[in-house]
Amino acid sequence: MAIYLDHAAATPLDKQVLAAMEPYFIDKFYNPSALYLAAKTVKADIAMARQSIAKIIGAKPSEIVFTSGGTEANNLAIQGVLQAWPGSEILVSSIEHESILEPAAGHDVLRVDVSSSGRIDLADLQRRLSDKTVLVSVMYANNEIGTIQALREIAGVVSLARARRLKDSNRLPIYLHTDATQAANYLDLQVASLGVDMMTVNGGKIYGPKQVGFLYVKTGTKLKAQVLGGGQERGLRSGTENVAGIVGLASALSLAASRRKDESKRLMALRQYFIKELTSRLPQAVINGSLKHRLPNNIHVTIPGIDNERVIMALDERGIMCAAGSACSASSEQPSHVLTALGLSDTVARSSLRFTMGVSTTEADIDATISALAQICL
Ligand code: PLP
Repeated sequence: MAIYLDHAAATPLDKQVLAAMEPYFIDKFYNPSALYLAAKTVKADIAMARQSIAKIIGAKPSEIVFTSGGTEANNLAIQGVLQAWPGSEILVSSIEHESILEPAAGHDVLRVDVSSSGRIDLADLQRRLSDKTVLVSVMYANNEIGTIQALREIAGVVSLARARRLKDSNRLPIYLHTDATQAANYLDLQVASLGVDMMTVNGGKIYGPKQVGFLYVKTGTKLKAQVLGGGQERGLRSGTENVAGIVGLASALSLAASRRKDESKRLMALRQYFIKELTSRLPQAVINGSLKHRLPNNIHVTIPGIDNERVIMALDERGIMCAAGSACSASSEQPSHVLTALGLSDTVARSSLRFTMGVSTTEADIDATISALAQICL
């Protein structure tokens, strides 16, 4: 039996989600923009999916823009705002996913430092906000080390800067965007209480389909569409809708919301067990990232002296799947920018492993993983 501990990279499709999607491949294949009744029912199903997602995050249905996943939603947020507000600056944390860092590169972008546990330095954020800052983008939780950011406090800093602008008659807005792709299974997504203007969520991390996601865009946020054409998604993302994907995404998000509390509790207990067993068998192991502000399913560990790729292969031979860092970018020879931002050396980065648990993970899986690790690393 395989043991899968790479849920930050991909989650299996939930059977309930698959059942919700199935009708849209053959029976209800119609183009939602067509005028006959059968197509109108498909359009109504998209509206229902949009409404269900909006309700879960406390938004209006018109504020949900469906995309082809997290990468596209992040590109829309970054490029869309930069193009709508030429000459302005953006701030991003130094541990963002490449789908934020890459579209931001080449523009006026400043990186905000994080502490050695991976949390945003609020004083640094405050210092770097300028009269020209139009967007702050900080991920809700990190894909490698699982660190959860103090979004509400970040929103507080942004709103103080907005108030200052108002006094100075500076009309440039400051939007706050968060990439919540890794957070959506475990954390509260209410946009008003988080204080965000834009938020990215995708299906592939929440037991839903891949290549579908959404960007929440608060009413009044000005951004430029990146995919032009037939004007779907209120002109913000053209293209015939991925109906099965959208219905699947709504179903997956609703499942995630219903199991959030119990599953977080269960995984936190498993995580504690994992760390206790690991450090008793391999006392040299060091956990990276914040222990307090951390996704319940994430264990990121350095085992000094190991070669992480060799260990991953040895674990794979024993039926255990885990990761070196982020699997979301195509394989790269470069050490992780996230670990570098924490102040860890290349050598430490190359001795680090990421285990991300999920709904199927049991205590027996952890026992087997720790035994295998101990055998390989001792
Ligand atoms: N943002 C984060 C934090 C991620 O972990 C990923 C990983 O896939 C993405 C964005 C990209 O999402 P997608 O694969 O849906 O494009």
